[in-house]
Amino acid sequence: MKAYTLKRRKDTEEYHLFEGDFSQEPCTSQNLSICEKMIKSESVGNKFQCLNEKEARLEIAKIGRPVCGVCTSHLYTTY
Ligand SMILES: [Zn+2]
Repeated sequence: MKAYTLKRRKDTEEYHLFEGDFSQEPCTSQNLSICEKMIKSESVGNKFQCLNEKEARLEIAKIGRPVCGVCTSHLYTTY
């Protein structure tokens, strides 16, 4: 199962999604965001971490506009 972490980028203040899995506690996440526009070191913090697809979709729907469109659409196109 895939794990999703949402991080806020320092300069643009936009949220980007990082994909990982649950092979390690609490979960892993890749260094590059799904849209490839952000790396981990540009983050000022996590909005959420280690959620599954369904949970991540719900949380992003609540946050709304400042979430990256490319990252968001990835959650809807993988299934
Ligand atoms: Zn993004």
